Amino acid sequence: MTREPAVAVVGAGMSGMCMAIKLLEAGITDVTIYEKSHDVGGTWRDNTYPGLSCDVPSRFYQYTFAANPNWTHLFSPGPEIQKYFSGIADRFDLRSRIRFRTEIVEARFDADRWHLRTSRGTEHVVDFLVSATGILRELRYPKITGLADFGGPTMHSARWDHSVETTGKRVAVIGTGSTGVQIVCGLAEEVGRLELFQRSAQWILPTPNPAYTPLAGPLHRRIPLMNRIGYRTHREVIEFFSKALVKPGWHRTVLTKICEANLRSVRDPELRRKLTPDHLPMCRRLIVSGGFYRAIQRENVDLVTEAIDHIEQRGIVTEDGRLHEVDVIVLATGFDAHAYMRPMNLIGRDGITIDDAWEGGPRARLTVAIPGFPNFFMIMGPHSPVGNYSLVAIAETQCKHIVRWIEKWRAGTFDSVAPTPEATAGFNAEMRAALPNTVWATGCTSWYLGKDGLPELWPWAPDVHRDRLLAPPDLDDYELRTTQPAK
Ligand code: NAP
Repeated sequence: MTREPAVAVVGAGMSGMCMAIKLLEAGITDVTIYEKSHDVGGTWRDNTYPGLSCDVPSRFYQYTFAANPNWTHLFSPGPEIQKYFSGIADRFDLRSRIRFRTEIVEARFDADRWHLRTSRGTEHVVDFLVSATGILRELRYPKITGLADFGGPTMHSARWDHSVETTGKRVAVIGTGSTGVQIVCGLAEEVGRLELFQRSAQWILPTPNPAYTPLAGPLHRRIPLMNRIGYRTHREVIEFFSKALVKPGWHRTVLTKICEANLRSVRDPELRRKLTPDHLPMCRRLIVSGGFYRAIQRENVDLVTEAIDHIEQRGIVTEDGRLHEVDVIVLATGFDAHAYMRPMNLIGRDGITIDDAWEGGPRARLTVAIPGFPNFFMIMGPHSPVGNYSLVAIAETQCKHIVRWIEKWRAGTFDSVAPTPEATAGFNAEMRAALPNTVWATGCTSWYLGKDGLPELWPWAPDVHRDRLLAPPDLDDYELRTTQPAK
């Protein structure tokens, strides 16, 4: 018996489009993508701040099945990446399958199917639901007294207002994560004065960003093997790097020494002291930047390490009572990385809500599936290997895994599938046991940590993620139900 599943994918970013392409490739054609915004691209659509680029090499930050021969830089700028994903939507004819400006507000599993309710008030019923809502989507605004009293423009990094003039102006940037650092590099030359408000110092991996020669594009176009070699080479380098994250050893020592040497390049000892982190390199997401220390040492750039007391009409007042008068405030204060598919109201079998299921924290089996939520899968779900790895590569692995389950459904093997609570608990216990080896558990705070203080990251090398998700599943770990006996 074969049958055709209806699949809903939530989100038309990099992951959601990957999911749709992989389903279509498998001959599964009843695929609808629900996208709450007006365009594809997710994070690359939303983030347009100056200095934006991807800190994963472009030849590895792309789909294996759609190499872009034309990347201009080792780490290409944000608009180029958005153009790539927009081109993917056209090339794979995805736009006709996307319902733009349509948010799934509720998804309820009932009688072996998912019943979806959208922000437009429409209802849809599908066999499978895939959440591809991205990780860094819900903006985090700082709780600073008087933030609303500021007389000039204030913008979160992910909602850059291009009508705001920054050239020659006095700009405050709050936050020293990857975003704050990129913005400082992007603005330092053009602003009149820039003050970076740092609550915590960060380690910086110095990485040059050379442009590809004009010959690189034509060569990669004519010799497709070069794309594959480029992908594999960059993957090897990043996987080397990933080993430093998940267990102590010489990989970690090498990267630590490079970061320390980079910090020593800061000439002024007082500035160097202020820029010295109180944690090990990589405990927070390592910042990759070839230009930050140069930018922060410019005459027109200041690092402010006094804590912010409040904001008033003219600017930011620090705890030493000093008023930092500015024209524009940029909030590079990050995201709530633990929202996952929420605020969608996800209701599984027997009425269990996602908030109930995740009362103790977000848990999944193999990062993609949750007990009690049959025929539901996530891309970039809890404990996905997101630490400085290519999320595109992770998405491809997770999509392949998901397609295999849907193919089994199509063949009539089951009507619904969800991991068992025991197998999921076992997998999470396995991860918990491995977490103390990781650099994320060496004592620092970051968006990596869950409510329980433990990193919500994959505690093994990325190839283990690939191997485990692509191995044939042990069916004892899953609850397979069949409502209708197969004919
Ligand atoms: P983030 O790493 O969470 O950093 C937020 C920053 O804001 C931190 O420095 C934090 O200080 C500061 N902050 C928050 N509230 C504050 C307050 N009330 N007062 C003062 N400072 C405050 O966020 P992000 O920089 O947006 O980066 C998030 C992630 O996005 C990155 O880790 C990375 O995964 C991704 N990203 C990737 C790229 C890329 O190239 N691929 C580029 C940008 C971002 P504390 O450190 O003290 O908490």
